[in-house]
Amino acid sequence: MSGYPYQDGDLAVCADCFINEAIKGIIEGNATDEECSFCGETSEEPIAAPIREVAEFIEEGIRRA
Ligand SMILES: [Zn+2]
Repeated sequence: MSGYPYQDGDLAVCADCFINEAIKGIIEGNATDEECSFCGETSEEPIAAPIREVAEFIEEGIRRA
């Protein structure tokens, strides 16, 4: 599986960019970046997780469904 357009960068995405509660939880649990690459939200604490981690979670969720 390599269909994700952001997979080769080091982009990070914050929980506010998703409405899915499970994905929000994954991001909050794996946040390593203080800036969201998508909405530009910043914080003094990590709020965004690497898009690769989130994409992997989504892929696993799709496979399981
Ligand atoms: Zn965001």
